[in-house]
Amino acid sequence: MIFVEEDASELAAVNPNILDNVDLQPLNTLALPARARHFARIETVAQLVDVLRWAGSRQLPLLVLGGGSNVILRGDWPGLALQIALTGKSSERHEDYADVTVAAGESWHELVQWTLQQRLYGLENLTLIPGTAGAAPIQNIGAYGVELAHFLRCVRGIDLDRLARGDASVIEIAVESCQLGYRDSIFKRTLRDRFIITELVLRLPTRFEPILSYPALRDYLREHLRGEAAANASDDETAALQVESAVRAIRRSRLPDPAQLPNAGSFFKNPVIDGARFALLREAHPDIPQFPAASGVKVPAAWLVDRCGWKGRRLGHVGVHAQQALVLIHYGAGSGSELLDLAAAIQADVQAAFGIALELEPTVYGA
Ligand code: FAD
Ligand code: NAP
Repeated sequence: MIFVEEDASELAAVNPNILDNVDLQPLNTLALPARARHFARIETVAQLVDVLRWAGSRQLPLLVLGGGSNVILRGDWPGLALQIALTGKSSERHEDYADVTVAAGESWHELVQWTLQQRLYGLENLTLIPGTAGAAPIQNIGAYGVELAHFLRCVRGIDLDRLARGDASVIEIAVESCQLGYRDSIFKRTLRDRFIITELVLRLPTRFEPILSYPALRDYLREHLRGEAAANASDDETAALQVESAVRAIRRSRLPDPAQLPNAGSFFKNPVIDGARFALLREAHPDIPQFPAASGVKVPAAWLVDRCGWKGRRLGHVGVHAQQALVLIHYGAGSGSELLDLAAAIQADVQAAFGIALELEPTVYGA
């Protein structure tokens, strides 16, 4: 990361969209303290291109933020931080499906509500996930047995390498090329911090087909709606709304609200290990939970963390949530480094106890 030393106020004067020395604490749900040397809130694609050219000419490192619900800011940001606030959504309806185009800065949760109002289905299980639509492909968001990958058609955006060569056109990447996997995509790998998503196209069915594979969801519906009402409700709209409100209620009862207890959701990915290794682990730990995964056996990371005695523990200003071992909390007055030290201690214990390397789910920024 290199940036040319110039007087900050002089730089800002060159581009009215850019602010200097901006506090990022309110812009990340962990409420970690960090300041950006330069900052721009992006409301149009033209403004984005303009600001990117400005940063490119100064070789400033870029930090792209949506809702800040899946980032760990380790310290101040020496370059330009962008808050993607592009808005707009539309749908093109066909008999069996509709193509929904949504701008990157739209709230994901509000998009889910809007699609249901349009009688378009599929996103119910993904309700209440914080953050923006533009960030959804980055880790192929998923919950309760549904992933964005089921509905994404393509993403559009600006490729910084092309922009550096003078090509400022919006590029389209088809879903087949997004390398979407379990909490993973090309945007976390070769295109990390290189491709800025400006909009997505989703294809959503006009008929509702409930996905009730998660016991928590099935049990909730059974208990609250007397039987599997969601699957049998008289019309699609009612059934879909029942599932959406069930997911919302379960999430509210289990997950800490970042506004009250700053967090970034799941801090670790669920490890996927091969069948032979799992069989050995099971001999030593007969009660270890498992779920089938494409490349082996998925073990809930929360169980591993809990077994190592971390659930509910607090170290200084950070800790592990008392009900959700996968959620790390910043209690205030702490730092990204303190949080990452806690994560490293948990990772070391899980490695020692189970021989499994837990991977962080959020992306870390800062020196
Ligand atoms: P940010 O945190 O702002 O950014 C995340 C990453 O995406 C960063 O690397 C950033 O640079 C990049 N990025 C953001 N916008 C763009 C863009 N337009 N172009 C290019 N790169 C971009 N995740 C799930 O998958 N399932 C869940 O059920 C879930 N539940 C959660 C519950 C809670 C309480 C919290 C706090 C988080 C949860 N998350 C969940 C994680 C998080 O909400 C998602 O990953 C979400 O998609 C992040 O969106 P964001 O706008 O906040 O992204
Ligand atoms: P849960 O229902 O208590 O389940 C615990 C773990 O077991 C989850 O991680 C889940 O994996 C897995 N699991 C449970 N039932 C499964 C099934 N039938 N098939 C496959 N895997 C199964 O989980 P929770 O913590 O309350 O979260 C509920 C859902 O919301 C999960 O899908 C979770 O991923 C999602 N969520 C994600 C975040 C985040 O930040 N990424 C935060 C909160 C909630 P999966 O995680 O692979 O689904």
